[in-house]
Amino acid sequence: MKLELSFLLEKENETTDVSVSYDMTEISIGGTTYKRSASEPFNLTFYNDEGKKLYVSGSTKVSYVSPCDRCLEDVEVSVPVKISEEFDISDVTFSCNEEEGVICIQDNELDVDCLVVNEILVNWPTKVLCKEDCKGICPVCGKNRNLYDCGCDTVVLDPRMQQFQDVFKDFKEV
Ligand SMILES: [Zn+2]
Ligand SMILES: [Zn+2]
Repeated sequence: MKLELSFLLEKENETTDVSVSYDMTEISIGGTTYKRSASEPFNLTFYNDEGKKLYVSGSTKVSYVSPCDRCLEDVEVSVPVKISEEFDISDVTFSCNEEEGVICIQDNELDVDCLVVNEILVNWPTKVLCKEDCKGICPVCGKNRNLYDCGCDTVVLDPRMQQFQDVFKDFKEV
């Protein structure tokens, strides 16, 4: 959602809470699109510091559906969002430090989705597992090994290891 912020310019040294929502139902990361499964309205807290700076803070969680990296079953991934930004308001308009942050404000309107998306991208898990000890998919028969005990022989030797073994065998024969 977009939030008009002009009213905060007059609230010097005041703290203002505003309930906001994150409206994007999908996110694209590394070429994959993930569907949002949960997101709740949350509070953004604004503090106008002597008409010079406006501080914005707040936190929430957004959940997505993602396949497990090992067995490909759908998992709900909950991504923490922690917002902490500041804007220069000394010339009665909002401006960001362009070098430091992403610009989520335009014409005194804050783009809440923009703030939240940036946090989700930073906090997206590097690994998604349905459970710590997910057994994954059998490389031989392709079955989900959490559900089936297929009993395939999956001890496939790395060809380089095979070479080592051969060398070792030759050595023993000498
Ligand atoms: Zn899994
Ligand atoms: Zn198998």
